[in-house]
Amino acid sequence: MATQPEEALESLPPALDERAWEALLSEQIGAPVEVRYGRARREVVQLRRERGRLQLRLGRVMEHAPPPVQAALAEWIARRGARSASLRVLDHWVELRLRELARQAPAAALSPRGAHHDLEPVARELARVEFAAHFGERGLPALGWGRAGRSRSRRSLRLGSFDPLHYAVRVHPVLDSAQTPRFFVRYILFHELLHAVLDGPPQEGARRRTHGPEFRAHERSYVDFERAREWEREHIGALIACARAGIPFAPAGKRASRRPPPPRAPQPQHKSWAQRLLF
Ligand SMILES: [Zn+2]
Repeated sequence: MATQPEEALESLPPALDERAWEALLSEQIGAPVEVRYGRARREVVQLRRERGRLQLRLGRVMEHAPPPVQAALAEWIARRGARSASLRVLDHWVELRLRELARQAPAAALSPRGAHHDLEPVARELARVEFAAHFGERGLPALGWGRAGRSRSRRSLRLGSFDPLHYAVRVHPVLDSAQTPRFFVRYILFHELLHAVLDGPPQEGARRRTHGPEFRAHERSYVDFERAREWEREHIGALIACARAGIPFAPAGKRASRRPPPPRAPQPQHKSWAQRLLF
């Protein structure tokens, strides 16, 4: 293929609507294809056959697919979704495009206000007291509670995260509980804001030492460090159990007895942006 997906990204062709996709794919494949844009996030390209007709559901990310990617999609459909070079071209382009879109988009729909803890005032106070002058120009990262949903891990729990790509801090919703002391939420925010200060801009492929000596030294000097670690040690079991049950934190003795949640069906591992559903 002459054009590399990277080159194609630099100047995006105009958006294709569903009819335009149908026309060009039907022509390239030699059979009618119905195309719909959908909102699937995990499978950007879904192909199924219904009553003998090929139906294709595309993520909006495909709107500006350049001709080499259009051709790869047509070939993938013609081969009925088989793994092939065309699938790799497709996956590679979708990956690049999603990354680019993520870079352009602000950290959307993050909400700092939980049912019990509002992250915003805590972070502002931290910025003033602990990070004087550090957040001047760029301002605080976007703050929000992570999406609720059952955690699957039995052994560990990520209570907060800093996302350098979107310049956003997320806190695990299990902590949004009246039983979680404010000093612990503050410590989690401190830790993530420290990442925002020390980690620097995202670097493709480069492994950063996110908890290097400088980070550890700053963290140890945090006023509530020992107290917060102690609280975490004491409650980590209950935190994990509550996260797995998809409920806010409650100390072990205080949790209402409830039937254990039904085992979840194993989630398919994400392998490709294109998914063949029915053939
Ligand atoms: Zn960290």
